[in-house]
Amino acid sequence: MKVVEAQTLSALFVEQPDAKEHLEKITGALAAALGLATIHRVRQVHGDHIVIDDSGEGDGLIITRRGTGAIIRTADCFPVVIADADKPLAGIFHCGWRGVELQLAAKGARRLKELGARSLRAALFPGIERCCFKIGPELLDRFAAAGIRVETRKGEHFADLGAALVDQLVGEGIGEIEEVTRCTACTPGLFSYRRDHDSRRHATLVWLP
Ligand SMILES: [Zn+2]
Repeated sequence: MKVVEAQTLSALFVEQPDAKEHLEKITGALAAALGLATIHRVRQVHGDHIVIDDSGEGDGLIITRRGTGAIIRTADCFPVVIADADKPLAGIFHCGWRGVELQLAAKGARRLKELGARSLRAALFPGIERCCFKIGPELLDRFAAAGIRVETRKGEHFADLGAALVDQLVGEGIGEIEEVTRCTACTPGLFSYRRDHDSRRHATLVWLP
């Protein structure tokens, strides 16, 4: 299993074919390897609902108990991890363009602060970058309203979700942001729904040791 580790957080980005039928096995293996009692996961629907210490439906998961973890699955959307430096409080957020438009990462940071977080750090794991994230002209107004920068190259429009996520995190007062920037769509070995149209996903996990 090939992984990328965030330097400042207990978080892993797993590069392994992660089709739905393998998810149970991978989650179990990660829990056993890290000594975790539970790894929560949600049915992701490109919304902004945040689940706390539970499973169910949503695109954000917050954990507050040591010995537990939370996982999300992505292929092009950005996995965003936010954690407190001192307290057992961490969240993981599934941010595609709808999640960015809905300010999911900022809402997650605010929810963590409501739960008592005082010193938040964040990590941004690979998603589709502005080199490859082409959008149609019908989305230009929505992206502008959401603060997502778009550049036009040879008449085609490309959006920068990573920069918008960093803006949202900085806006919530988070200064320490680690960016593991590799575009999912043009980096060999990473999974991209837009490129491959298949069910392979990355699994990103945050846990409270
Ligand atoms: Zn790219």
